[in-house]
Amino acid sequence: MATSPNFLESLIEADLAQSPDRALQTRFPPEPNGYLHIGHAKAICLNFGLAERFGGSCNLRFDDTNPSKENVEYVEGIQRDIEWLGFQVEGHTFYASDYFDKLFSWCLGLLQKGAAYVDEQSLEEIRAGRGSLGKPGLESPFRERPVEENVALFKRMRDGDFEPGHCVVRAKIDMAAKNLLMRDPVLYRISNAHHHRTGDRWCIYPTYDWAHGQSDAIEGVTHSICTLEFENHRPLYEWCLEQVGVTDPPKQIEFARLNLSYTMVSKRKLLPLIEGGIVSGWDDPRMPTLAGMRRRGYTPEAIRAFAAEVGVSRVNGVVDMVVLENALRDDLNQRAPRRLGVVRPLKLVIENYPEGESEELDAVNNPQDEAAGTRKVPFGRELWIEADDFQSEAPRKFHRLTPGREVRLRYAYYVTCTGFECDDDGHVTEVRCSYDPETRGGDSADGRKVKGTIHWVSANHAIDAELRLYDHLFASADPAAIAAADDVKQHLNPDSLEVVCAKLEPSLASAAVGEPFQLERQGYFCADDDSTPERLVLNRSVALRSSWAKIEEREKASQGS
Ligand code: ATP
Ligand code: MG
Repeated sequence: MATSPNFLESLIEADLAQSPDRALQTRFPPEPNGYLHIGHAKAICLNFGLAERFGGSCNLRFDDTNPSKENVEYVEGIQRDIEWLGFQVEGHTFYASDYFDKLFSWCLGLLQKGAAYVDEQSLEEIRAGRGSLGKPGLESPFRERPVEENVALFKRMRDGDFEPGHCVVRAKIDMAAKNLLMRDPVLYRISNAHHHRTGDRWCIYPTYDWAHGQSDAIEGVTHSICTLEFENHRPLYEWCLEQVGVTDPPKQIEFARLNLSYTMVSKRKLLPLIEGGIVSGWDDPRMPTLAGMRRRGYTPEAIRAFAAEVGVSRVNGVVDMVVLENALRDDLNQRAPRRLGVVRPLKLVIENYPEGESEELDAVNNPQDEAAGTRKVPFGRELWIEADDFQSEAPRKFHRLTPGREVRLRYAYYVTCTGFECDDDGHVTEVRCSYDPETRGGDSADGRKVKGTIHWVSANHAIDAELRLYDHLFASADPAAIAAADDVKQHLNPDSLEVVCAKLEPSLASAAVGEPFQLERQGYFCADDDSTPERLVLNRSVALRSSWAKIEEREKASQGS
């Protein structure tokens, strides 16, 4: 698809034109402290996509500098999710922990030339001494320590002579700098946590700021693309690279992170939902994680199309969840086979259909794809129809079943409602009708028209399934409000999961886990891993575009014209 280049593409194009012998090298640098979410998908599509587009390469680099929060499960989950999106990580996977030796010796170099020092203030003292926007910071009493002392202390830190929090290494930059991050930032801290790759070899770990730029440089990254909140880290990124003598430093460029309505994209904040048992895990189909979306029935194609559609900019905004849902609908509309299934079943009895008999009718598999052909669906005297498709007293505009009205049963016959039965509470338990045998296939020979078409399944042949119908996990549309909450649980939508017992056409007995299909008039579904041979469990991936949305679109279109 030829689209005009975004600001990143223009910038990279210009840079590559200036140094024609250098290939583009990007990276995606997640911290393995959780599973990837839809916001990460945007960054992945961007970094791997740019590499594809410019014939360069993109690394997956784990920012594994905080061992107390990180583990192998997350590393593997992240690799799997990126590959699922369609990008290759094999041969392109690196770890900041691969560079711990190098980062250590670089830091030693800084101490030796007096550009860093070991600070024995407590973390609170350091924080308080940093000052604020209008107030310069206070220099640490340890700032002017002699070089030999700094070097000796740093080695003792490495050798485990001190408890965590006893001291840190800080860069010696400028305690009066306007940018607070330049006020002697911490480069190394002590932690006794076991690291998932380096084990217990280290008890000091570099901070993000000390590890990130240098890791980029080691890997020959040309463009280090990150989200806008890192803009004020850029001077520090450049300072560190200059200090360690990198001659052709990578260029940090920022873009706006993805925010999605009704969603919160932060691994750290999603974790309590799992720990608190609010959702079933990182792959709960309501989660904005790629693992959850995959289980729910999202396709990599839909997510990549979504990322392309939202594009990149330098202005933070909120993308409407509907844009994501429509990307899935557009993808599945092309390729998902259609099936018949009744979500809230109500019995329909055809009084003039012979008892004990049945037949098979032809149903179209995919109106978007003629090659998908047709299939046989069984039909009989007793059917299940959608409870919503019947009203005992209906307004004139109701085109579905009500006493005296004729409708089409999709792919089958015209039927006319002759009556209904209720239980003691007045709930309709059964609808009765007669059919016109001359309308087999769904058309009348005499040209008689009906306004409504409803779907059905044969009661004798139907299979039962548990349907999990999902709504937004959060009740609030404003992602900033959700993210700002001390406890994101305050914003949960209590109705985010509804479980119903549905009746499906028998061909769905062989539905494979994750394979999408459309239940006509209902939405897109796929079988969940929780399915057993006895019980099929389906996830609703996304409902069909609601009739409301269609009406609104029509109204908008007519206003526009
Ligand atoms: P989280 O709070 O989810 O842990 P993070 O930014 O700390 O978010 P990282 O694992 O450090 O998570 O992120 C890896 C990369 O993904 C970073 O380069 C980051 O800029 C990018 N990223 C994270 N969230 C988003 C988002 N919502 N939109 C676009 N890019 C994102
Ligand atoms: Mg992070």
